[in-house]
Amino acid sequence: MPDAPTLPAARPPHSRLPSLRGQLSLVLGGLVLAVLTSVGGYLGSLATHELYTAQAAAVRATAQAAAELLASQLRDREREIELLSLSPHLMEGPLDSRQARDALDRRKALHDEFAWLGVVAADGTVLQASGGLLVGRSVAQREWFIAGRERVYVGDMHEAKLLAKLLPVLPDGEPTRFIDFSAPIRDAEGRLRGVVGTHAHWRWVTTLLDSVTRRQQPGSGIDALIVDRRGRVLYPEAMKLAQARGDAVLPRLSNGRFEGELDFDGKTYLTSEAPLQARTSAELGWRIVARQPLELAMRPVRDLRRELVLLGALAAGVLTLAALLLARRISRPVEQLADIAERVRAERRMPEFPQDPGAHELARLSQAMQSMARSLLATEQELQQANAGLEAQVQQRTLELQAANAALEHLATRDPLTGLHNRRSLDARLADALALDRRYGHGGRVHGLLLIDADHFKNVNDQHGHAAGDAVLRQLAALLQASVRTTDVAARFGGEEFAVLLPELSGPQEAVMVAEKIRSAVQDAVFPAAGRLTVSIGVSLASPQDADVRPLLERADEALYEAKRGGRNAVRLKSLGG
Ligand code: GH3
Ligand code: MG
Ligand code: MG
Repeated sequence: MPDAPTLPAARPPHSRLPSLRGQLSLVLGGLVLAVLTSVGGYLGSLATHELYTAQAAAVRATAQAAAELLASQLRDREREIELLSLSPHLMEGPLDSRQARDALDRRKALHDEFAWLGVVAADGTVLQASGGLLVGRSVAQREWFIAGRERVYVGDMHEAKLLAKLLPVLPDGEPTRFIDFSAPIRDAEGRLRGVVGTHAHWRWVTTLLDSVTRRQQPGSGIDALIVDRRGRVLYPEAMKLAQARGDAVLPRLSNGRFEGELDFDGKTYLTSEAPLQARTSAELGWRIVARQPLELAMRPVRDLRRELVLLGALAAGVLTLAALLLARRISRPVEQLADIAERVRAERRMPEFPQDPGAHELARLSQAMQSMARSLLATEQELQQANAGLEAQVQQRTLELQAANAALEHLATRDPLTGLHNRRSLDARLADALALDRRYGHGGRVHGLLLIDADHFKNVNDQHGHAAGDAVLRQLAALLQASVRTTDVAARFGGEEFAVLLPELSGPQEAVMVAEKIRSAVQDAVFPAAGRLTVSIGVSLASPQDADVRPLLERADEALYEAKRGGRNAVRLKSLGG
């Protein structure tokens, strides 16, 4: 059975289009990157701002803590001197007494930071002092003395003058520096008796400051400056010297403050200042300036950014993988359905459809494809069956037609009574034989023709009836057929007359021999319908000189006539020209 007509395999022209999976991966991956970049960027800037603010707050807190510590310590010393000035020894007793000296020495012993404690007469002469230093000398010109006559006083930092040579030298050769505290000594009536004053080591102040900056996180790089009212650095020493030489200029805002990002000697610092809020030290006008190199301040920001980038890359990797898997999950059922459709086309049978395509729409598509495939295959089967039926019908009809043709052919070429070739068929065979002879030569072989006529056949009819005559004619035909080769053509020539075409004979003797065989077979046969019967036979042979079949027939007829005339039941040969 031929194949059912098939559609050409659809190699889509759109195979150059990007795949669904690729597009999904691209979109999902892009989304992941966009979300990560924007969220990461937003978080990064948020964190940067927070951290920056926190660092600035830490610097400000350092400045404030240092300012508060310094202020409270200065206040304590201030109060110490005030209390000393109010002690009964000094208010009532002689200021140059031994008790006064003892009181001073006790105070000094309590406070390391005090380098010198002394009581000064109202005229500026030192009356008594710790360690007896400077007793009898005049300090009338000193600011601490002048101011101390009026009120409790805290003075700016200054280098030691008279005491410099009397006190032990500082370890690193740093000049001896003091800040001064002083208070008036009054009697019960409030009359001025003198002034009590002390020189506190500058070192004490700077150590206090350093204790605050040391408390900061190690590596934070935060340090603190003490700046006076006019913006001069009092500490640290190196900066103070550089500033005094004019090498360094303290960067300040236009309002004279140290706040925010400022450049110190080519390096940017996060800076904040706090005033010293002491009771009297308001006169000092000191400010504590805390600063942190911006680079160090921003280090946590850089660390955080690096972590964010790493985390982002990790998340991008994981999410991209997830996006790829998701894209695969979405596109796979579609690819599967496409494969199934392809298989339906190629194999022409119902394939297995996926049980769970993963989504409602895909399940619908799968079902639609299933029913489409089912109906397609059913239609195709119907077509095939119809086709097969049609083919069988055509075959049957062809056979019938062939049979009808054969029957027609038989009818056209056979004699209805005897079944031998009829006259028309014989004529055609004769003409064919002669035409072949003429075209290919006869190669020494000749065609012979016998004309056979039943003797006195009229009598058979007359004596036994026409039906018996017919029966005799049929038996005669059978005899004739049995006596010749299959290649010979036996025909009913007309009435009770027959003819046999003998092709490819070796010569006239062969033709005469066949005729004789027929004649004796008839003579020996018993015809149930009529008893005995004889035939007369005329023999002729074809000749190249014959223009058509007529001469051959005429010669056979003449030979037959001669056989009749000679007494019947005989064979005569009529040869050419004889
Ligand atoms: P002869 O020996 O001279 O041939 O004598 P004959 O009687 O055979 O010759 P004739 O030609 O006079 O007679 C032929 C007879 O054959 C006449 C006819 O009735 C009979 N005949 C011809 N065709 C048929 C046929 O188809 N059936 C029957 N039963 N008889 C036929
Ligand atoms: Mg006759
Ligand atoms: Mg006859």
